[in-house]
Amino acid sequence: MIRITTFAGRRVAVFGLGSSGIASARALADGDATVVCWDDGAAGRKTALAAGFVLEDLETADWSSIAALVLAPGVPLTHPEPHWVVQKARAAGCEIIGDIELFFRQRALDCPNSPVVCITGTNGKSTTTALVAHILKTAGRNAQMGGNIGKAILTLEPPSMDKIHVIEISSFQIDLTPSLAPTIGALLNISPDHIERHGTLDNYAALKARVVTSAQMAVVGVVDGLALEELSDRIAHAAEDSGKPVSMFSRRRAQTGTVTYSEAARLQRFLPFANNYGVLEVLSDIGGIASLRGAHNQENAAAAFNICEWLGLPHDEIGAAMKSYPGLAHRMEEVATAGRVLFINDSKATNAEAAEKALLSFPSHIYWILGGKPKAGGIGALAPHFPRIAKAYLIGEASEQFAATLDGKVDFEVCGTLEKAVAAAARDAGTAARGSAASTTTSQAIEHVVLLSPACASYDQFKNFEMRGDTFRQLVALLPGVNMRERSL
Ligand code: ADP
Repeated sequence: MIRITTFAGRRVAVFGLGSSGIASARALADGDATVVCWDDGAAGRKTALAAGFVLEDLETADWSSIAALVLAPGVPLTHPEPHWVVQKARAAGCEIIGDIELFFRQRALDCPNSPVVCITGTNGKSTTTALVAHILKTAGRNAQMGGNIGKAILTLEPPSMDKIHVIEISSFQIDLTPSLAPTIGALLNISPDHIERHGTLDNYAALKARVVTSAQMAVVGVVDGLALEELSDRIAHAAEDSGKPVSMFSRRRAQTGTVTYSEAARLQRFLPFANNYGVLEVLSDIGGIASLRGAHNQENAAAAFNICEWLGLPHDEIGAAMKSYPGLAHRMEEVATAGRVLFINDSKATNAEAAEKALLSFPSHIYWILGGKPKAGGIGALAPHFPRIAKAYLIGEASEQFAATLDGKVDFEVCGTLEKAVAAAARDAGTAARGSAASTTTSQAIEHVVLLSPACASYDQFKNFEMRGDTFRQLVALLPGVNMRERSL
């Protein structure tokens, strides 16, 4: 727990009483601030009351005595319109900040040079954050992981020179952190997302760019290193031009400049010297790491490599630690095997773009469970990958729409529930695997994959994607002859 003393003796309002709100209230109260809590929802207010905090309706409160509003990142600050509590605070001239701002102000007081890594991007934040923390811990370092993943930042141990804080930070959290000042700021990628909360893509990109501009050193994912029409490439070069050390990574070898990228299951860099001549530096072999399947995860691995390199870890230690990365639950998580059939939980894939990453991770024999509450655009864009699919199993509200898209292109079955879909997919994959085993003369295992990658939100049948993934795991565990894998992080 980090004690926040920067508001000692002053009154602070905390709005949004989820885990980070409660942690902020506790950290501020421990540092001798007077804390008043409020939330639109009764459940949050109940939690705060049970934890011993004072509730005060901020709609009718006297704002002239409140020094700051600590806001949960899920509460709209600007778009689609500022929440009423934001309007109240602004009208009173009261500053509005988040829990990560409290962290950075306290660090500036107590240990301004302690190592802090902040990781943001549209996709891959949690994977890269967890991977960096895993590598550091495996290499014997004290890594404190939190923020937008796992623990609220103020529940971590306080900053010190012998600890490395590895913080996942979302655009909403950046917006509430004017004093952001990481040692290493990593921007993984930028694509249109959450525009309803940021107004325009430019606003969103400008927020993400702050992780780079505010950092002492930056790690940036680029498309080509010099493709200046690309937002992240532009951000990387502006940082370099300002004299900041920038280390870049990419999905592929760049035409120009030095980037870390993966090819043939190796992380490598091409160090150009003239006329397309140069030296290829092989950094690490990342082949066969099940938790890092797929091109997107190799890109996350490249980002993690660059970050850990800058934290002073030798290349061979980084590579060795990657091999034992357990992965994150619900993201391409290996749940079980049954003979030659592999069961994968990718419940986090709530849209077609994410499901595409999963389909691209296996060449063929995919028994694909999908459906739920459909997103705009459906799964039409996935048609180029349909030849990889042995059969599709449809669940939830999207069934009719997806059946129309698949009709005539992919064999499918409308199952309705996840329970029926798991049973049907396991049956078909098992039969096919036994058939292919009988006709195979080599001992090489052929993977038949039962893949839950729904391309849909879960709300029609589940509370959230975690419950959907947990249900999948439970259903798989009930199948005959399965070997369950240990839970991922
Ligand atoms: P985030 O924390 O940014 O939501 P995660 O690491 O939890 O990202 O990954 C969520 C999903 O995003 C994955 O299941 C995958 O479909 C997709 N994804 C992960 N990394 C990348 C990447 N580097 N580029 C594009 N998509 C990615």
